[in-house]
This record gives sequence, structure tokens and C-alpha cells, in this order.
Amino acid sequence: MFDKRADIPYNNQCCPDAGVLDVRPILYAPGQSMSFRLSLDLSDLDFAGQRPITRPVEVSGTVRNRAGVLSLELSADTTLDATCDRCGKPLQVPKSTEFHCVLVESLENDDDNEELVLLQDGQVDAGELARTAFVLGMDTKTLCSEDCKGLCPRCGANLNEGPCGCAPEPDPRWAALASLLDAPEES
Ligand SMILES: [Zn+2]
Ligand SMILES: [Zn+2]
Repeated sequence: MFDKRADIPYNNQCCPDAGVLDVRPILYAPGQSMSFRLSLDLSDLDFAGQRPITRPVEVSGTVRNRAGVLSLELSADTTLDATCDRCGKPLQVPKSTEFHCVLVESLENDDDNEELVLLQDGQVDAGELARTAFVLGMDTKTLCSEDCKGLCPRCGANLNEGPCGCAPEPDPRWAALASLLDAPEES
């Protein structure tokens, strides 16, 4: 999914670089901050054959100069149109991802405790940071509930709505054990 990243346009109102922040006004101004908002269109992103990010991802954040250190915080929020991995039920899942980093002009002083993002000519692409953070924060599994019973492997009935009448599948672990017990003893 990542090699498609360059093809996904921002949902811009005005210009192609709406996600790019110029932080030079607060770069050397301790105590100052600037806020930003943007909207990402990630509807083309494919997750295991689904495209759950149907609505715009709303990003809001702040860049703060704290005693000369520039920190960026953002949150990216939307509601996903997903389906349960077990039973296929359509679900609307609120999704919120937080991201934090420190903006630096050079990577000389390497601080392992913080995620560092290099400024380019006093600018940072907050849209790109938000998009990456949101994609990395996507859950690999979606369930309508933790104890979703899923579909019957034989008839396809939704087992959350009650038993379907098929004979229960033998548990493969017991089948393996049974075959071990049946095996002729080696001497
Ligand atoms: Zn389910
Ligand atoms: Zn069944």
C-alpha cells in the first residue's frame, strides 16, 4: 500500500501544498505556537481488499516552541466503513490516531527518545506525517465484537444469529490427538 502513497492527493481546497506548514515564524520564538487543520482523502487506500477510509480524515494539530525545541502534535480522526473479519457484518468504526514528533533543522544531535522530523527550509509536510501515522495506526483486525462467532464453515450461516443445524466441526486439535492415539506403537 505504501508504494501508492505518491498517487494519493490531499483533499485540498486551494493549493497542492495545503498540508505543508511553514514554521519559520515560531522557529526561534520560545513560547509561541501555531495550529493547523487539514483534511486527507485516503479513500483509495486498500486494506486486505477493503477500502474502509470512505470519509475524509480530519487532522488537527499544533506546533509549539518549548524552550527552543519545536514539537508537533496532531490527531487524525475519521469513521471507517469496515466489515467484521469473521461474519462480514458492515461496521462503522470511529478511528483516531495521535502522532507526536520533534522538528529539527539538522539531525546532528540524535535523540533516541523522540521521533525527529527534519525541516526542509523551515517547512514540514504535516499532511504526509498525518497520513503515514494514520495508515500505520490502522488495525489489522476488525471484529463486530470480541466474541463474534463468525460464519458456519459448512453452510455460511451467521452463527451470531443462532445455531444453523450443521453438525459441529471436529476440533482439529482433537483430531490430531486422536490420530496420535490411533497410531500403532513404535517399538
Ligand atoms: Zn462479526
Ligand atoms: Zn451451518
